[in-house]
Amino acid sequence: MKSVDLTRIYNILFNEFGPQNWWPADTSFEVVVGAVLTQQTKWTNVERAIGQMQKKGLIDPENMAEADIREIEELVYCCGFYRQKAARLKQIAQHFSRRGENNIFSLPVNKMRKELLSLKGIGYETADSIILYAAEKPKFVIDAYTTRIMECMDVSGNYRQLQELFESEIPEDTGLYKEFHALIVEYAKKYCTKKRCTECLLKIRVSGAGENGY
Ligand code: SF4
Repeated sequence: MKSVDLTRIYNILFNEFGPQNWWPADTSFEVVVGAVLTQQTKWTNVERAIGQMQKKGLIDPENMAEADIREIEELVYCCGFYRQKAARLKQIAQHFSRRGENNIFSLPVNKMRKELLSLKGIGYETADSIILYAAEKPKFVIDAYTTRIMECMDVSGNYRQLQELFESEIPEDTGLYKEFHALIVEYAKKYCTKKRCTECLLKIRVSGAGENGY
């Protein structure tokens, strides 16, 4: 795989946007719910659904596990695929309720990842988002934006390959992983999705001299 100066990319993004302080959630289970709901929808829809669920006291594994599936469907309707998402959320809540959130989040990263991936509706990106932002343990999240930006830097790879690249090139630090992923998403929203490629900060500057530190 072609090498890329990830430190430089991080510094460019951080200088441009500053700290992102992700994930915007009050509890770790809210992160879990958000990570499932955000699949194939905009974050504003997720915020709306979470706000509605909060009012009903459903951002809680035990309460959601026992909730009527039709009520969950109604509350997550705005996020699309509402039947599938409601069913998955309920199953995930039942698992968290049975196992205990602390018992899951205190597992070593690889064991936690394996357990999360065994649940329906949790793929690599969702599992790693939960590990990083809910359990607050170091696992770098790769999403479509990261893949796209890396391709623009002439670096191609599948999920595992890109994750290994980030995890081997930057210090293993939960705060840094959180910030870096959030900055990538912010950049992609402001530049890539707006087709601002002619003024791309990364294309223009990544080939230049490196900057120090994180
Ligand atoms: S702005 Fe365009 S060139 Fe730059 S990383 Fe995004 S898609 Fe690639």
